[in-house]
Amino acid sequence: MKLFATVMVCVLFMLGFCRNQKTVIQDTSHFDHLSEFEKSVIVKKGTEAPFSGEYDNHYVAGLYHCKACMSPLFRSTDKFNSNCGWPSFDDEIEGAVTRQSDYSSGMVRTEIVCSNCGGHLGHVFEGEKFTEKKLRHCVNSVSLEFKPSID
Ligand SMILES: [Zn+2]
Repeated sequence: MKLFATVMVCVLFMLGFCRNQKTVIQDTSHFDHLSEFEKSVIVKKGTEAPFSGEYDNHYVAGLYHCKACMSPLFRSTDKFNSNCGWPSFDDEIEGAVTRQSDYSSGMVRTEIVCSNCGGHLGHVFEGEKFTEKKLRHCVNSVSLEFKPSID
């Protein structure tokens, strides 16, 4: 009887676990309009080739939005030239970017994703001396959509 009770508890626990797993699945409709290349970076967490993105050497006043869901992520005033081959920002729009640990490629890095849709943006590096904030958000151009400010 004790064994039966233990098994039942395990079964109920597993059923609950499976149910919880299902509720974790995100709304992916933000990604439907993306091209295959955009999905390879934004959804599958890929990386565009360095010095290839349209915003690498792009210095115009405005805001950089998430390509998938159009949430504003970075200001042009926080963009700087790190010469790393990808757009670099030493700050983010408050709450727009979420950090998470990334153990892929045999390295320990901090991935950054859009806080609204979870789309992959790039990585953030701390302690470098490019700017006073010692922060470099290294972002794929293809994850961004720029909108110039209207003066
Ligand atoms: Zn987004």
